[in-house]
Amino acid sequence: MREIIVIGAGSSGLVTAIVSARRGKKVLILEKNNKVGKKLLATGNGKCNITNQRPTLERFYSSNPQFIREVFEGYSYQTIKQFFKSIGLELIEAKEGKVFPMSLQASSVVELLVAECEQLGVKIDCEVEVEQVTRVGERYEIRHNRGVEMAKKLVIATGHLSAPQLGGVDVGVSFAKRLGHSIVKPFPTLVQLTSPMKRLERMAGVKVESRVTLRTEGGKTIQKQGDVLFTSYGISGLAILDISRFVMVELLKKKNVMLIIDLMPKMSQEQLLALMRKSLVKKSSKPLTIWLQGFINKKLILPILEPLKLQDETVGSLFSNVKNLELIVSKIKNFKFEVNGSRGYKGAEVATGGVNTKEINPKTMESKKHKGLYFTGEVLDVDGDRGGFNLHFAWVCGLRAGWSI
Ligand SMILES: Cc1cc2nc3c(=O)[nH]c(=O)nc-3n(C[C@H](O)[C@H](O)[C@H](O)COP(=O)(O)OP(=O)(O)OC[C@H]3O[C@@H](n4cnc5c(N)ncnc54)[C@H](O)[C@@H]3O)c2cc1C
Repeated sequence: MREIIVIGAGSSGLVTAIVSARRGKKVLILEKNNKVGKKLLATGNGKCNITNQRPTLERFYSSNPQFIREVFEGYSYQTIKQFFKSIGLELIEAKEGKVFPMSLQASSVVELLVAECEQLGVKIDCEVEVEQVTRVGERYEIRHNRGVEMAKKLVIATGHLSAPQLGGVDVGVSFAKRLGHSIVKPFPTLVQLTSPMKRLERMAGVKVESRVTLRTEGGKTIQKQGDVLFTSYGISGLAILDISRFVMVELLKKKNVMLIIDLMPKMSQEQLLALMRKSLVKKSSKPLTIWLQGFINKKLILPILEPLKLQDETVGSLFSNVKNLELIVSKIKNFKFEVNGSRGYKGAEVATGGVNTKEINPKTMESKKHKGLYFTGEVLDVDGDRGGFNLHFAWVCGLRAGWSI
């Protein structure tokens, strides 16, 4: 009989184990991958955007916002910073409140977490895939590919569907369901979007700093600024990942969603018009397709001019018809891009949905249905914005579960 079994040696599972072991508990972690923290190693492009200095409530999403409020009460950025200091990991602050390990290496986060586990006597068994979890009286039976274990307390820290290539699975949700928990349906988020538009390959590879606007059916306007990358399947880039959650919600209601992309967000419409106007030459026979290369990426020119039927015009014709110049400027500032789906969990940083948080105690992460059963991290119906918020939630869950288990 084990005292505590944690399923999943990922972000929240490792912290849960460390904190409870520091309180003298005996912990065994079961991990299906051949190494610990595979997803964690890929975070922040290998640098690990470990948390955020400003983890305000509006950066997190759940069908039960009250849960988020209560989970974070008393657990600030400083709490996380102190925890990592306690395992020997110094953090540095970057722009937009993002925080990284001082080494700028996700591997140092994993290695220091594992070293702390080892020092505390936490046992980590890799290549052990848990297949079934059953409650037997006050205990839990854990069946896996190598046998069966019994535990007094069980922590399900198995993550969720995002990045299956790194081990993302929804097995934790299945365990929860079997134990009588209800589940909030997931969808991928922080994900690239696909488009039904034709001839996308013409723009593929173009990356521009843009402002992306989404008008929701409910009348809300959501804007995100940053890189946009046009691809042969649709659209990607940081601004797209940031807006993807809101797009996915709209796509649950309708087949296609229109994004409006300002391809030159640093200039107002008037400024751009004035700049372009200055370079117009009377009677010039220079094609617009050439002239526009002085302002914008070549691959975007035909997608801008064709809908206006101006692709065969010359600079001279714009000179005599300024209305057409206004149309071009308006198109650059309001470039319409239709999307109809996402690249799925394989491209997603996070899965929304999961175990219904109404059934979880936000102070302890313990199930309200089963004493001694805990859920931490992405398996729960909570997700956050890009910028360190998802790991922040995972750490806080680990600290809370570790303290109370
Ligand atoms: C590419 C990428 C980049 C990201 N970058 C960032 C970032 O920079 N900042 C940020 O805040 N968030 C980032 N995230 C999100 C973040 O990684 C997750 O939100 C976080 O890791 C979730 O922690 P967790 O403890 O819930 O699960 P995980 O860290 O996913 O750990 C779950 C563990 O459980 C194991 N497991 C699953 N099923 C079983 C089973 N049946 N038996 C045994 N073991 C099992 C898995 O193999 C895994 O090791 C990123 C995600 C991805 C995919």
